[in-house]
Amino acid sequence: MLTASASPFQDATFALLTLHGKQHVIAPVLWRCLKARVLHTDAYDTDALGAFSGEIERALTAPDCAKKKAELACALTGHPIGLGSEGSFSPGPFGLTTFNEELVACVNIAAHWAVIGRSYQACSVRERQCQNAEELAAFITATPPDQGLIIKTQGRVSKGLYGDPAIHEQLHKWFGNTIQWPLLVTYDLRAHHCPERRARIAKATENLAERLLSACPSCGRPGFWPDEVLFGLPCGWCGTPTNAIMQRRALCQSCRYQQVFEVDEAYADPSHCPRCNP
Ligand SMILES: [Zn+2]
Ligand SMILES: [Zn+2]
Repeated sequence: MLTASASPFQDATFALLTLHGKQHVIAPVLWRCLKARVLHTDAYDTDALGAFSGEIERALTAPDCAKKKAELACALTGHPIGLGSEGSFSPGPFGLTTFNEELVACVNIAAHWAVIGRSYQACSVRERQCQNAEELAAFITATPPDQGLIIKTQGRVSKGLYGDPAIHEQLHKWFGNTIQWPLLVTYDLRAHHCPERRARIAKATENLAERLLSACPSCGRPGFWPDEVLFGLPCGWCGTPTNAIMQRRALCQSCRYQQVFEVDEAYADPSHCPRCNP
């Protein structure tokens, strides 16, 4: 567990741009880990940078988008340190599950550095093209009560709906008493409607705090972190380099100082060896 006893960010203010309530997730973590405060702004529509529901295609990569939001937060508030959060969803290994990656970027526009915290995990996003009331009812019943839903049909969309009464009220507005099927129902993945994302954003913020507290031993820039992995741990039987991780390397983005960290194991399990266990 992190302690903020020696936080160089104690009493610092981090500006955060979000329209989706992420301040309620991020601020408590930064206070606990860094004793830093969050100043929230919603003075810019972040959906213009790309939205989950697909109306606007995201033009930037997820890390660049998170940094862009953090820079906007600085520009909108006049504070030198800004935060930006960006999430994305992608198929997991073997295409079996969906994975959610959350990034929380911190930029210091005065000191010219950026650090990004990350969390990546499988998530239970679901959608279904419902053909009748029974299928819709089954989908709603299987959805956690604090997970918002989106319904789409015939060019109409309604978001942030919770539970059976809210969905049927919306359908009644659209169709009266005769619902026209099919109806697409999906999870609303915006952070304020998705508890799984909020948990993951909190994890990414913890990772950000750890990285911010890890300063370059040479120049002091925050974010000195062993992100780079080098493979080739020798096989325990024959010494052949394997695909197991041998070292991790941290490289300072400002002064290029680097440090190599050996893994705890000296040898790889022969089951990973291309020679002993082909
Ligand atoms: Zn450095
Ligand atoms: Zn071997």
